[in-house]
Amino acid sequence: MNKPKVSVVQTPSLKGNAEFLPPIKKYVRYAEDVDAIEAAVAKAVELAVGSIDNIVKPGQTVLIKPNLAFSAPPESYAVVDPRTVEAVTRYFKKNSKAGKVQVGDNPSLGMHVGRASIAFKTSGMEEAALLGGADEVIYFDEQPTVDVDVPDGKTFKKYKVFKPFLDADVVINLPKMKVHLAKTVTLGLANWQGIGPNYHPSEDGVDGKGLHMYQQGQHRNDISAKVVDEYRIRKADLTIVDAIIAMEGQGPHAGKPVEMNLILAGTDTVAVDAVTGFIMGFDSEEIPAVRMAYTEGLGERRMDHIEVVGVDPASVQKHFLRANTDPVGMYRGLDVFTQQTCPGCFANIRGALDSFVLSGIDFDDFRAKVGDCVFVSGGLPDFEPEFARGKILFVIGDCWEYFPTADNIRQSIKLAREVIYRPGCAPVYIFAQVNGDLQGLYKKAQEVV
Ligand code: SF4
Repeated sequence: MNKPKVSVVQTPSLKGNAEFLPPIKKYVRYAEDVDAIEAAVAKAVELAVGSIDNIVKPGQTVLIKPNLAFSAPPESYAVVDPRTVEAVTRYFKKNSKAGKVQVGDNPSLGMHVGRASIAFKTSGMEEAALLGGADEVIYFDEQPTVDVDVPDGKTFKKYKVFKPFLDADVVINLPKMKVHLAKTVTLGLANWQGIGPNYHPSEDGVDGKGLHMYQQGQHRNDISAKVVDEYRIRKADLTIVDAIIAMEGQGPHAGKPVEMNLILAGTDTVAVDAVTGFIMGFDSEEIPAVRMAYTEGLGERRMDHIEVVGVDPASVQKHFLRANTDPVGMYRGLDVFTQQTCPGCFANIRGALDSFVLSGIDFDDFRAKVGDCVFVSGGLPDFEPEFARGKILFVIGDCWEYFPTADNIRQSIKLAREVIYRPGCAPVYIFAQVNGDLQGLYKKAQEVV
């Protein structure tokens, strides 16, 4: 049996990186950088599949699906580099016989904070796609959905998928090389988050059991099984990884940039993820989605069963900092109680507090003006309700009410100075929402002082 091929190509050093990376952190597009990335994309595709005509037939519609997980600027390093979006788009416009090249996605975190039209503009991706000659930028969340069956799904059997994702003849998967606090890494498999709608708990999208569905569903300890199920719906025709500026540490949104200047490509997304993970210092066995996709027969993860062409991955390997999921002890006076939560609330509270850290808040001043905050979630057998007396209490998630210890939280609600409820299972939107809540409390306290 032929081994799947994965290509690894390095760009020359890019002029804009000096400004893009810390300490300046200012995204600047130089035409020569886009040219260099486009040349790397062309080489990576050629090494992986030979002619692009093997992937795209005359007149076909090509959809490029970037990782636009957040409504965040390029300097967040949390979304695909606009230079790569422009280069990949232009590559398909110039070199393939596609009838139409589209760029489309739907960001995460719920409709209140994750609208595609805003995210495409904020990230610079819309401008980049148009500069690259895209025929259309598609805001998935403004498109109709199609109900699909997922007969082999482990976490769901039915799913809603945005119609343009199914209608395209060819889908190009364009993830970014990033560490992820709940999935180890987020690469090609995880980039199918976005093919379905996301909902805030106040909106639709809750099943008969009160659990969230689609993009924000199965975001607990079943998150990696969920992305594999999403991938079953439709495989990518080609995966191209943006590893120009990668992210390590508190990914997917609050990590640190790592200059790699690499482009990877291949038709087997599982193999591409395995090689990308290897370059980041992960064995593919450490990445649950890659592990599961392999055992489910969706692709190859074993490095000695993958033909890597181009740059030797060992020669560019770096040991990326891993993300920490634990929200405990980040600041004095900001206490988190999660004795019996699943990773859905546990990791998402950490992600929310990472966003708070990222905002550059003066926490001593925050504490002096706002006072102490307490986060509670899930079952809390050893939690003393008195601990919340006079404090700001965040009640996170839905399941605390089903635990025999729910009275501990009900008591604490009576004793707290202010209670902020952030329900949902899983409440993925708290990544952005809780940071907004904390910033709002600070602003209000400053006005009072
Ligand atoms: S509400 Fe409970 S089950 Fe749901 S994500 Fe949070 S801790 Fe997990």
